[in-house]
Amino acid sequence: MGVSFMMRRKNRRSRKLISGLLIFAVLTVGLYVFAIAGSSGVALTSEPNALDRLRLWASGLTSTTSTVSAVPPAGFPAFTNAVSVAELTDTQYLKLVNRTHAIAVPVCETRLRTIWPDIPARTSYETLHETALSAMRDLFAAAEGAGIGGLFIASGYRTRDTQSYLYTNAVDRAYVMPPGHSEHQLGLAADILSGDHTDGMRGSEEARWLAEHAPRFGLTLRYPAHKQEITGVPYEPWHFRYVGRVHAWFMAQHDFVLEEYIEYLRIQGGYQTEFDGKTYYVLYQRPESGMILVPEQLRFRVSSTNTGGYIVTAWR
Ligand SMILES: [Zn+2]
Repeated sequence: MGVSFMMRRKNRRSRKLISGLLIFAVLTVGLYVFAIAGSSGVALTSEPNALDRLRLWASGLTSTTSTVSAVPPAGFPAFTNAVSVAELTDTQYLKLVNRTHAIAVPVCETRLRTIWPDIPARTSYETLHETALSAMRDLFAAAEGAGIGGLFIASGYRTRDTQSYLYTNAVDRAYVMPPGHSEHQLGLAADILSGDHTDGMRGSEEARWLAEHAPRFGLTLRYPAHKQEITGVPYEPWHFRYVGRVHAWFMAQHDFVLEEYIEYLRIQGGYQTEFDGKTYYVLYQRPESGMILVPEQLRFRVSSTNTGGYIVTAWR
């Protein structure tokens, strides 16, 4: 009773907030469209330098960008149900974990599954989050179908202690994150190697195939060579991270790494796209009093970005 009253009150507040921000958003979007109109009239999502433009635009609006992103883009269904982010579970799949963003909440170990014998693995006790494992299973089956053999998972989920050991004993710390900062600790990243290559597959057919096809299964090559300045990690042809299929596909379309994708969503507020026969609505939100808005009618998933925001992925 108390909760439902609070939710309803919250809904009204949120609706008021949204309508209050609408005029501001229209003006802001108008200014933005005006700013980019000089060079191109093409829709934002098909621009190769979309993020650079967004950054340029956002630099003049730093005090207001977080409120802009609370407004669903035009054509979005109603996001009117308020939910407490503290009550959400399994909100890790778009979490940014890197040298500057540590894992705040320990991974839910009940969802870890043994990789072997589904997929060849370096040891029989390597594990992954069940959703990431399912994506990896499909990727390995597709690889085999394409004649790419000899692949195995060299490393999956790591405890903080394991990461600490690897960091302490690393030959080159450029490739090993400090404890608390490794995606492996999420259970959503795996290092895929080929028994035929002892050099980490650089320049190999296997590496090229994996990078190209992984997004189809919701996996992204996390440290491409040309993004080192953004990720802070040199090229790792073996390290793949689960983010979800529509997100991996969108990132591949725009050549975004996760840092860029989250920044894009923060500034852009969200996007709508057709993918695999469904319509997806992706909305970035900053919690207000610990609450975010989710759609009433659609199925959805929520992930923390680990940078203060949350991403709601809804579809029909
Ligand atoms: Zn790795």
